[in-house]
Amino acid sequence: MSKKIIVLPGDGIGPEIMKSAVKVLETVADKYGHTFEFDNHEIGGAAYDKHGEPLTDETVNACVQADAILLGAIGGPAYDELPTHLRPEQGLLKIRKALNLYANIRPIKGFAPLLHASPLKESVIDGSDIYVVRELTGGLYFGTPRERRDDGNTVVDTLLYHRHEIERIVEKGFESAQLRNKHLTSVDKANVLESSRLWREIVEEKKRDYPDVTIEHMLVDSAAMKLITNPTHFDVIVTENLFGDILSDEGSVLTGSIGMLPSASLSDEIGLYEPIHGSAPDIAGKGIANPLGMILSAAMMLRYSLNMNDEAEVIEKAVEQSLEAGYYTADLSIENGTQVGTEEMTDIVISHIN
Ligand code: NAD
Repeated sequence: MSKKIIVLPGDGIGPEIMKSAVKVLETVADKYGHTFEFDNHEIGGAAYDKHGEPLTDETVNACVQADAILLGAIGGPAYDELPTHLRPEQGLLKIRKALNLYANIRPIKGFAPLLHASPLKESVIDGSDIYVVRELTGGLYFGTPRERRDDGNTVVDTLLYHRHEIERIVEKGFESAQLRNKHLTSVDKANVLESSRLWREIVEEKKRDYPDVTIEHMLVDSAAMKLITNPTHFDVIVTENLFGDILSDEGSVLTGSIGMLPSASLSDEIGLYEPIHGSAPDIAGKGIANPLGMILSAAMMLRYSLNMNDEAEVIEKAVEQSLEAGYYTADLSIENGTQVGTEEMTDIVISHIN
C-alpha cells in the first residue's frame, strides 16, 4: 500500500523523537512492502520562526489531503512572551479545529518491566488498562468570550457545548467500550455544571443503543481519586475536554513516565497522532528523550488511519520486547537494565521488528 503521511516534528524534543518514529515506520514499510511518503511541515514555534505564525493554511491544506498526520510536540521558553495568537499551542488548537479532530483517544496501559517505576504501588496498578476518550474541539478551551475586563482585573472563560458535539463523543465512548470490556465510565461535574447535566442526559439517552455496555456516571473529583487509588476499576472513560486533559495526564503516572504514552486525535475523516507529552525543553538536543510514546503513536496511526493492524502490533510488541530486554531511557528505570539514548532505543526497537 502507498500512503501519504504529513510529518509535523514541532519544537524541543519533537524533531528528535519524530526521527525515531519515521525510522521505525520505514522499517515496517520495508518488511510489509508498503510505501510511506513523508511530507514535512512546521508547527508551533518552528512555524513561527519560519513563517511568522504557528500554523500556516498551506500546512492545514496539506493535512487535509493526507492519509494521516504525525506530530512531535510544540512549545518552548523562547515563545513564552509572544502574544496569545502567535504562541505555539495556537498551532495545535488551530489544527484540531480545522480538521475537526473531536475525539482524543489515550490508551493508558503499563508495561510490566516499568510497573515498579511508577510512584504508585505495583499492587495498585498491576492489571490496569484504561482507554480515555476525551472531547477535543469544544468546551472551555474554545468557548468565547474569553477575555480580560476591568483593566485585566476580571476574567471570562466560556464553557460552551452543543448537543451534537456531546452526542458524537459519547457515541465514540460507547463504541470503544463495545470493542473492549464493555464498561464505560462517563465523567462529569453534574452536581455543579449545566454543561455536565446536558452531558449526563445525553449519555442516558444513548445507552439504549448500546445495551451490552455497562455505564456508570462519576463526578470528576471522584474519578481523579479513583484513577490512582483503584485504576483497575476503569475500562473506557469518556469525558469533556478539560476533564479529559487533566485525567489523562494524571493517568500517565500509572505507566512510569509521560514519555511512554501515545494518543490519537480523530475526526470522521482523518487522524493526527502524537505522544501526550510536551516538547521537554529541559532535555531537548541532549539525545536522551524517550522516543517510545512517539513510536507507539505511529503504531496507533497504522491501526486507526491506515488499517494496518498487524503492522501496528509488530511495533507494539517490539517496544514491549525492548523493555523486557532491560533497555530504558533516562526518564525510566529498569532494575539491572541498560540506560540508552534516543537513537539507541530506536535501533533496539527496530531490531525487534526485523
Ligand atoms: P513536558 O511534557 O514537555 O515535560 C514534562 C517533564 O517530562 C519534563 O521534565 C520533561 O523532560 C519530561 N519528558 C516529557 N517528555 C519526555 C520524553 N519523551 N522523554 C523523556 N522525558 C520527557 O511538559 P512541560 O515541561 O510542562 O511543557 C514544556 C513545553 O511543552 C511547554 O511549552 C508546553 O506548552 C508544551 N506542551 C506541548 C504539548 C504538545 O505538544 N501536545 C503538550 C504539553 C505541553
